[in-house]
Amino acid sequence: MTVKEMYINGEWTESFSKKTFSVRNPATNEVVSTVTYGSAKEATEAIKAAKDAFLVWRSLTAKERSVYLTKLYELMLKEKESLAQLITLEMGKPLKEAKGEVELAAEYLLWNAEEGKRIYGEIIPASSNNKRLQVIKQPIGPVGAITPWNFPISMLTRKIGPALAAGCTVVLKPSSKTPGSAIRFFELIEEVNFPKGVANLVIGSSREIGQELLKSPDIKKIAFTGSTSVGKRLIEGSAEHVKKVSMELGGHAPFIVFEDANLEEAAEGAIISKYRNSGQTCICLNRLFVQESIKEPFQTILTKKVKALTIGNGMEDATDVGPLVDEDGLKKAHSHVEDAVKKGATILTGGKPCNENGLFYEPTLLSNVTNDMTITYDETFGPVAPIYTFNSEEEVIQAANDTEYGLAAYFYTQDLGRTIRVSEQLDYGIIGINDAVPTTVQAPFGGIKQSGLGKEGGHQGVEEYLETKFLSIQI
Ligand code: NAP
Repeated sequence: MTVKEMYINGEWTESFSKKTFSVRNPATNEVVSTVTYGSAKEATEAIKAAKDAFLVWRSLTAKERSVYLTKLYELMLKEKESLAQLITLEMGKPLKEAKGEVELAAEYLLWNAEEGKRIYGEIIPASSNNKRLQVIKQPIGPVGAITPWNFPISMLTRKIGPALAAGCTVVLKPSSKTPGSAIRFFELIEEVNFPKGVANLVIGSSREIGQELLKSPDIKKIAFTGSTSVGKRLIEGSAEHVKKVSMELGGHAPFIVFEDANLEEAAEGAIISKYRNSGQTCICLNRLFVQESIKEPFQTILTKKVKALTIGNGMEDATDVGPLVDEDGLKKAHSHVEDAVKKGATILTGGKPCNENGLFYEPTLLSNVTNDMTITYDETFGPVAPIYTFNSEEEVIQAANDTEYGLAAYFYTQDLGRTIRVSEQLDYGIIGINDAVPTTVQAPFGGIKQSGLGKEGGHQGVEEYLETKFLSIQI
């Protein structure tokens, strides 16, 4: 099998050590590809390339940079099928979801290609006639970007899109579970013919490459999506050079169904939120709060819908729920179920691994879940939905906010006053109101509390890659 390579300074390259690793399909356990395994040395080369290229890239006009990004957007859409297949082969999500991810990923490029042209400064009225005050925005410099496996393509473009649009250059380290889709994406970057070194791909030891990005004074910003624990380490490591950071971290989303909700729509929303990507989504439902008075009818509707989901290889058209990404993910989901059952929860459906070849877990619904169970506090990252009941608005807001996370929250109601009261009191960065799919390129995505710092998307996304400079001019 040919070894897939990194992309540094416009060249495909193997690691200095010639070490490689295998990527396996979680649905079949078959080897998908053999990939070169880099370390600190390759990261150093990539940082140097990004530093040199910054001088060239920042001097282009926003319109010129936009042309490159728009071409990349068009190519991505043309290559939607090949990119989506790689996503499914490497991490298991159903092909139809993978295609949706590629479309969204491409949209982040187009959005930022346009936003880059609207990076405006300010003129501030001075207090004396002999002064003129101006504010200008400039690219922050070379960026170190680290991305996860659960959205292997859209997490790339959510960083590379705004960074390149702002005039920054990038060294990207994708997850070792999904390097192939990143490599395919960089083949498209090569095809667009960006200036050498503008976008670099380093694959391999996350610890060594991460350290190199942190300790280099030439990397001015760290953009990260992943777990809160790794994010904290990166924030700590960024302190030495006081680097700017964007952190998109873990979540523990509450999904609240009030008694006045349309139960059919709420159940459909819960299915999408929980079982999409086999529950391996940072904004996915983790705690399902149902008002006591509608518990029975809602559980009945939802259980029927969960039982109707088809589990299987993501490459098959009928599949709704694919495998989990690895053995650890499967064990974690099952440990949450076992712990809950031991402490008194009831399994409405699912509750165990299935299919011997792959890493599949039955879509699971748990009832009678209580606060002493691990699932109440820990992000499951699997297809398990725990149901809690509540009586009043105050009670459920308090319970929903009782977590260190603050990424996404959802609630279903038809009461306008409640819509406003509850959305203002939920301590989350993203709120879906009768909407289980809030992510869109034109809106700011990001968490509060320990779910992160900074936003991706919207006009806010590009701001994360800019410095604000104040000019005081005496005339
Ligand atoms: P992870 O283990 O934190 O890994 C994320 C990335 O960090 C990977 O590229 C990983 O590389 C790298 N990494 C690991 N240890 C590192 C270190 N010491 N220094 C530098 N880099 C390091 O997270 P994951 O399992 O891939 O992703 C799942 C998590 O991401 C969940 O918690 C989820 O909620 C969160 N997430 C958040 C968002 C959001 O927008 N807020 C979106 C998606 C996912 P290797 O894979 O090569 O080790």
